Amino acid sequence: MAQTSIEWTELTWNPVTGCTKISAGCKFCYAEVMSRRLKAMGVDKYKDGFKKVRIHEDALRIPYTWKKSKVVFVNSMSDLFHKDVPLEFIQRVFQVMRDNGQHVFQVLTKRADRLAEISDQLTWPHNIWMGVSVEDERVTERIDFLRACGARVKFLSCEPLIGPLPNLNLKAIDWVIVGGESGHNPRPMNPDWVLDIQEQCQQANVAFFFKQWGGKNKKKAGRELNGKTYDEMPEVELLRNI
Ligand code: SF4
Repeated sequence: MAQTSIEWTELTWNPVTGCTKISAGCKFCYAEVMSRRLKAMGVDKYKDGFKKVRIHEDALRIPYTWKKSKVVFVNSMSDLFHKDVPLEFIQRVFQVMRDNGQHVFQVLTKRADRLAEISDQLTWPHNIWMGVSVEDERVTERIDFLRACGARVKFLSCEPLIGPLPNLNLKAIDWVIVGGESGHNPRPMNPDWVLDIQEQCQQANVAFFFKQWGGKNKKKAGRELNGKTYDEMPEVELLRNI
């Protein structure tokens, strides 16, 4: 596990590492950059490079060691629903999450088709929040796949937001995160796109979390929208399976 600076979670847990790019949102993949760095530092878990998907049996015991309740982002360094992750291993990850109902596990994927395909073969306790990335209108079908899965709490991560999303279908969606791209050459995010999503969330009574404007200097750009910080989340305490 690792402490994280990601604003909408507390810890990251990576039972899988490595991935391959699947859509425009992957262009400046943070996990790829971090993997390269960790490999250069000699960290064993990343020795095979980013493009090799690896499962880590030893990581499965980690959540049993956490003493206090945590909000945990699962697989910040991969995509749990990647085709190279065996179903049997995904089921074991889900079993670990089920065994640890005092924690909230946030699972985010771009492989929403596989998520829907195998959802019936997974068990869905209340403490698993399932999300899909929606970076622009070309990938909104991921939301339909998400809706079809068995998760009690469903969320969208619109980050990096690289295009407008004027017609989001937010039916059965509990939470939307929006953020701009950061790094050396970030693609710009139009403030109107963000305001539009915020308004759609407000109308649909969906929790809205504005993570960051991003850009070359993301600290300076900050995370205020209309002079306000939007940190809404689904009700964590109510939804923990305790
Ligand atoms: S799916 Fe996620 S982890 Fe995989 S390449 Fe794309 S951004 Fe990176």
